[in-house]
Amino acid sequence: MPISSNSVSEIQDTLSDKSIYEVFKAIFENHPLPFYACNIAGKIIYFNESAVNLWGQIPKENALWTGAWKSYNTDGILLTPQKNELLDCLKSEKEEGSKEILIELPDFSLKRVISTPKLFLDKQNNIVAIHNTLVDITPKSTGEHHSIFTDIVKHAYNAIISKDLNGIITSWNLEAEKIFGYSEDEMIGLSITKLIPKDRLEEETIIISKIKSGQKVDHYETIRLKKDGSEINVSITISPIYNNKGVIIGASKIARDISVEVSHQQAFKKYSENLEMLYSIGKAISEKLDVQAILQKVTDATTKITGANFGAFFYKTTNSSGEEMMLYNLSGTSREVFDKMQIPKQTDLSQLAFNGNEPVRIDDITHDSRYKLTMPYDEHLHIKSYLAMPVKLNSGKVIGGLLFGHKESSRFTEEHENILSSIASQAAIALDNSELFEEIKSLNLKKDEFIALASHELKTPLTSIKGYLQILSRSTHDKEMSKLFVNKALIQADKLESLVSDLLNVSKIEAGKLQFNTEVLDFRELVIESIENFSYTARSHKIVFEDNQSPLIVEGDQQRLEQVITNLLSNAVKYSPKSDKVYVSLLSNDNSVSVSIRDTGIGLSPESQKKIFTRFYRADGVNNISGLGLGLYLTKEIIERHHGNIKVESELGQGANFIFTLPLYKKP
Ligand code: ADP
Repeated sequence: MPISSNSVSEIQDTLSDKSIYEVFKAIFENHPLPFYACNIAGKIIYFNESAVNLWGQIPKENALWTGAWKSYNTDGILLTPQKNELLDCLKSEKEEGSKEILIELPDFSLKRVISTPKLFLDKQNNIVAIHNTLVDITPKSTGEHHSIFTDIVKHAYNAIISKDLNGIITSWNLEAEKIFGYSEDEMIGLSITKLIPKDRLEEETIIISKIKSGQKVDHYETIRLKKDGSEINVSITISPIYNNKGVIIGASKIARDISVEVSHQQAFKKYSENLEMLYSIGKAISEKLDVQAILQKVTDATTKITGANFGAFFYKTTNSSGEEMMLYNLSGTSREVFDKMQIPKQTDLSQLAFNGNEPVRIDDITHDSRYKLTMPYDEHLHIKSYLAMPVKLNSGKVIGGLLFGHKESSRFTEEHENILSSIASQAAIALDNSELFEEIKSLNLKKDEFIALASHELKTPLTSIKGYLQILSRSTHDKEMSKLFVNKALIQADKLESLVSDLLNVSKIEAGKLQFNTEVLDFRELVIESIENFSYTARSHKIVFEDNQSPLIVEGDQQRLEQVITNLLSNAVKYSPKSDKVYVSLLSNDNSVSVSIRDTGIGLSPESQKKIFTRFYRADGVNNISGLGLGLYLTKEIIERHHGNIKVESELGQGANFIFTLPLYKKP
């Protein structure tokens, strides 16, 4: 009797269980068609040898619904334990007929198969099992081609992914697994958008629409996401997949990891941008001689380079009165906001840039206890990343600091430090030059003032001398009168001589040629003699002298030391016009002698006290008193060349006390 699958229930009626098994065995064991059966949970309970041949393997222990390694719909969608033709048949409780599917063998070759699932029913028409007959319809040559082709795809050095027109992934090779971190099992059946960053999702819409219209997307460079959430730069080429009827059913995508190229390109771009920036900063600041302009240019450029939310450049300089002051320029914020931060001037935060010789980089300053107190709590400048770079001269002297802040943590890198350090040294040179320029400008101004003053000072005694000589030439008969005018002319000539010799001495100092003839001498005697000589010429003031009367031996140039005393005495007289006394005292200890020359005249402001020993300096309000502003400069030089020092104690309107000290001579 011929047996078909439809007669199974009849066989069941007539034969015992054992006989059914034997009948099955006889019919199916050596049947040329692949045949297998599953229970209603999908577990394979029977399969024949032809099925094993088709699948290329014996079904795995846990195989469900099929013994094949992988099966797909003809549109490439993977058949899973949850979605397959046997389950469809079981669910609908009716036989759906035959269905064409693709079976992938463990050697990655594909077989085209007709699957015909059918139900086993018991006497009560309950479904007890399902069986399936498979017919291999793979054309021989295509099968071989598939196998090689699939193998190439599987092991290609690029990620090769195919997807359907809904973006559902239908194949995923080993390289895709390597690049993106997801395994084939994790990705097949999922949407390709899993790999696309949120802000690039529209790319997929554009790609799919191009594919649908049969276009290819070539070497498109973009960013995709890896399993660990990190971004990866890829170059993708996407082409449409056609079925055998020429209809587009999906897309194949070849993706190449170009992270290394991109990072090289970015590094190169950054490098050339930085070079360009460095060049333009260098050029700009070397052309500028104005401090404010240099500070602003450097602040703006460095803030841009570091990507900081704000940048500041602190610069220590001295104002025209010789006082130290701090300038600062800002970028990325206003002075009002910055001032609220307490950063400028004396806080730990700004001091960081000056105190250390090294840059300071802190990833999150809010976690650094040292700086918490000086943290800017202003909502506009709530910084976390902090970077301070000292600006120092070649000599190592720190003249300022660059300071940067970012609201987010860890924004500054070692690379920023390197670039900033080279900008900082250029800035230091530019600032130094600009200070020199300022100095030269002010010296030039002083020189002009000096020439005007010198001409006036030299002309005054000359005019007097000429006047006295003219009177003399007219009245030679009056001897008394002649003597008086000759004396007056001599006094003026002395004055002229001393002015000219001061000028000469200054130029010698400048040239390093001021000569000294040193000898061992009694300094007390020298002081007394100098006072005596001076008293002849300055009759307006009495010189009150006081000392302990013992000889004080020093080694020095007699003439120069007398010049010092005469100069200080003459100043004391000149600058105390309303007084008639000058006090001189000598004080000594085992090592040194100090001379104090004190007057009760116009005195000096603290500002003037700092400057009176510099060339050409004259205090405000002394224009009506003759002088070139050279005497104290020469005095200081002479004393220092004798290894001594000089200082002044004074208050404006309260007189001045000049004290100089010389070392006592010690026998060798
Ligand atoms: P000169 O007296 O020729 O101006 P100096 O170098 O001797 O030059 O002094 C420099 C300046 O210091 C003076 O112009 C004056 O302003 C101030 N000065 C010097 N000595 C005194 C003094 N005893 N009292 C007040 N001011 C003084």
